[in-house]
Amino acid sequence: MGLLTEGEVLSWEETRAHAKHVQQHGIQQFINLYRNLKDRPNDELKWGDEIEYIIVHFNEAQQRAQLALRAHDLLPKLQQKELEAEEKGEKNPDLPALWRPEMATYMVESSPGRPFRCNFEDFTKVEGNMRARREEVQKLLMANEAILSVSAFPRLGCPGFTFPPALTEPNNPNSILRSLFFPDEAIFSGHSRMRTILGNLCKRRGRKPFVNVPLFKDKNTSENVEEDFAALGDDGEVQAVAKAGHIVMDSCGHGMGCCCLQVTFQARNLAEARFLYDQLAIMCPFMMTLTAGAPMYQGYISDVDCRWNILAACTDDRTEEELGLKPLKDGFRLIPKSRYGSVDHYLSPEGDQYNDVPAVINQEYFDKLVEAGIDAQLSKHIAKLFIREPLILYSERIHQDDEKDSNHFENIQSTNWQSLRFKPPPVDADIGWRIEFRPMETQITDFENAAFVIFVVLLTRTIVSLKLNLLVPMSMVEENMAVAQQRNAVSEGRLWFRQQILTGADGSQQSNKIVQMTVNEVFNGKDAEEGHFEGLVPLVEHYLSSVDLDVHTRQTLQSYLHCISKKASGELLTTAGWMRKFVLEHPDYKQDSRVSEIINYDLMKRCRDLSQGLTHDATLLPEFIPPLSLNCQERLASGDLSGMVDCFK
Ligand code: ADP
Ligand code: MG
Ligand code: MG
Ligand code: MG
Ligand code: MG
Repeated sequence: MGLLTEGEVLSWEETRAHAKHVQQHGIQQFINLYRNLKDRPNDELKWGDEIEYIIVHFNEAQQRAQLALRAHDLLPKLQQKELEAEEKGEKNPDLPALWRPEMATYMVESSPGRPFRCNFEDFTKVEGNMRARREEVQKLLMANEAILSVSAFPRLGCPGFTFPPALTEPNNPNSILRSLFFPDEAIFSGHSRMRTILGNLCKRRGRKPFVNVPLFKDKNTSENVEEDFAALGDDGEVQAVAKAGHIVMDSCGHGMGCCCLQVTFQARNLAEARFLYDQLAIMCPFMMTLTAGAPMYQGYISDVDCRWNILAACTDDRTEEELGLKPLKDGFRLIPKSRYGSVDHYLSPEGDQYNDVPAVINQEYFDKLVEAGIDAQLSKHIAKLFIREPLILYSERIHQDDEKDSNHFENIQSTNWQSLRFKPPPVDADIGWRIEFRPMETQITDFENAAFVIFVVLLTRTIVSLKLNLLVPMSMVEENMAVAQQRNAVSEGRLWFRQQILTGADGSQQSNKIVQMTVNEVFNGKDAEEGHFEGLVPLVEHYLSSVDLDVHTRQTLQSYLHCISKKASGELLTTAGWMRKFVLEHPDYKQDSRVSEIINYDLMKRCRDLSQGLTHDATLLPEFIPPLSLNCQERLASGDLSGMVDCFK
């Protein structure tokens, strides 16, 4: 969506009255898109990341860190050049970054000004571009503020966690969230989209979302987290659902207020997009485990390392009927999952035999898609997305030309928040079939963020080039997703993976055996009696050895692979592991699972210093990090971030 488009939002009742209209036209729009664009040949690899950030306010006198409600002020400045270009009708302006609002007023999201290409030298510019993006914001902040790519702020949801502090209004019927912990004022309100979607999630569901996250139990942790919910304004609703030994949350803000790291890439054509979508579905739990960065919430240490299930629970808009708690009304069905969740349906012909998770679909739309000539497997994917109702509708978008518009399709597609998104080409731009990889959590440093997004892109090249096949039954990927979020899954988890991923010339594999492996074994390989496995990092290295690279590029890529390899082996800590260690070793920590103000303050300061390169920590990062290219360093030093065509040339 461009920056200029915003219109009049319909009420929930009106939106709901148009739900079927949106779905029917959305399906027709997909059919038209598919017909027109299914044969797009030979698109080049283009790709780009998205990083979400929090803005932190440091109060030195009080030794306190808070989330600064700054997006309303920052975004107009960050988007100014893009907006000017849009007004002039200029396509592809030359900007280092594109900035977007996120759910919260303490968040912003950036992506590169233009997608990267698959010239390997471009890969060495990614980290520099990320650095430039960070500095673009940091320049606009005050000395006691910082932009951090920290996924979960440890005291999110504690009284006064924002700056300025904002009040929650659980008993105000006009409050959007009615949360005991997360104030409405922290929801981005520069446009109506976020507020509307969050409000409508609650309205559709009929009550607030509740999440109980298991607490990490230490020596002095009390059995009950004795929160005085009544003092926060609870009328008994939260008290009734709060489980002993858990951290209870009651709003969409809790999960959507955490930051993620995403990467989108363009496939050569539709067939390759379907193939790589499937291969990457298997990688979702693994990349989530390696990037785990959300171990603390609401001032407590939890027993999970990732935000994923919390997000799924807090954006769950299913009614009690759809959840099976009450008899179903006409026209509704039982729905097994939240609209935020892992993908569970393969799209490629090779993958179909592994589709063992029952698909709940809208039969009417499925029939319509099949009648239009779309194969049953892809039709099922779309008909699955379309069991959801729209959460927002603008009055001027109700009536659309299904040949020229795809807004109704995008409406449903973009509020299915899944681990992967299969993105068809837009109707109005020369862009191909893309896949968005969405399970990763943000890392503290640009080096790590670059390492992870580049690893994902290199892995897709390796899969295509070496003809790898990672497919396992989808139910096993689902099991892996659950394991991947647990505390220290990187060392303790055992995840399903294929014993053999190399294929012969005819695509066959000697063995279809699927075994449980550690993350270390999957990434670094193993040579055990029960079977040899090459390891993903050595396979990517093997692929790279066949490519002609200059010294700087090779060294940079090698350092990213090294980082991934060491995080997988446990020689380097994951972000979550590192944060836990920081808190447990802090002098103010009382072995009671609590993250006090001062611990939080010191932790956020350390994250700031790491992200700005002011300090190093050899438990988190490799000893040696290659410097950015000289040109890139000069640009950053001069502060002139303009003119960065295709990022640092
Ligand atoms: P969303 O919020 O819907 O996920 P964004 O626009 O925020 O999408 O981010 C899309 C990402 O896709 C950006 O990193 C961008 O650089 C990248 N991108 C843009 N065009 C292409 C393309 N043709 N192929 C691949 N990636 C692209
Ligand atoms: Mg985005
Ligand atoms: Mg985002
Ligand atoms: Mg988005
Ligand atoms: Mg995205």
